[in-house]
Amino acid sequence: MCRHLGYLGPAVPVASLVHDPPNSLVRQSYAPTDMRGGGTINVDGYGVGWYPAPGGPALRYRRAGTIWSDDNLVALSRVTVSGAVLAAVRSATVGMPVVDTACAPFTDGQWLFSHNGRIADWPESVVDVAKTLPVSTLLTLDAPTDSSLLWALVRSRLAAGGAPAAVIADVVSEVAAVAPGSRLNLLLTNGTVLVGTTWTHSLWVRSGDGAVVLASEPLDDDPRWREVPDGHVVTADVSAVDVQRIGRG
Ligand code: GLN
Repeated sequence: MCRHLGYLGPAVPVASLVHDPPNSLVRQSYAPTDMRGGGTINVDGYGVGWYPAPGGPALRYRRAGTIWSDDNLVALSRVTVSGAVLAAVRSATVGMPVVDTACAPFTDGQWLFSHNGRIADWPESVVDVAKTLPVSTLLTLDAPTDSSLLWALVRSRLAAGGAPAAVIADVVSEVAAVAPGSRLNLLLTNGTVLVGTTWTHSLWVRSGDGAVVLASEPLDDDPRWREVPDGHVVTADVSAVDVQRIGRG
């Protein structure tokens, strides 16, 4: 399964999350510690999203390939400073294309989104769910992947005014109901709130000192890391972390 992380807090260099920690996202791409049978390494792509101006739209950089090979990203990450970051490394699900546009984060305006996992029995299991979207949306998915469909579902509901945590939890419940056995670990931010789910994969939270990090694996040995139990949605900002159970389908 892919690895992802989200950060909210004082502005920091992107490299302090993606490259520098002992268990950085770069390290998790070649030596993840907790893949739970979903592949072994995360070498099919990567992406980083951040906010050049607080309150403004997100900027996103994503590529297919191995994150450790990208010297341009190292240089960019050292000089790019942001108070909100969402980053991911990808292990492509068998049968899904290895292209830039299949890599998280997916973005629209202020939103950044990532999916760690897979939709079981793709694509047949979610045909009826996909039919709830306009044909034009289905024709312009970032890539023909399960993650892109999940993003289209989330994005359309956010655009309709849905609250982030409710949208994320509803999409997980609805997809899990029609595609049992799916792994639906979602991560979403707009730069001020961070929402993550655990649906058969790991998620850890570290909060304190006016900052919060959600990550598939702890980035370091800080004793403040707490594991989120499976089947939950976490809503976090710089001052509070709320964990709620998601109804199972
Ligand atoms: N199924 C998604 C993809 O192929 C996510 C993969 C993963 O989490 N390993 O992009």
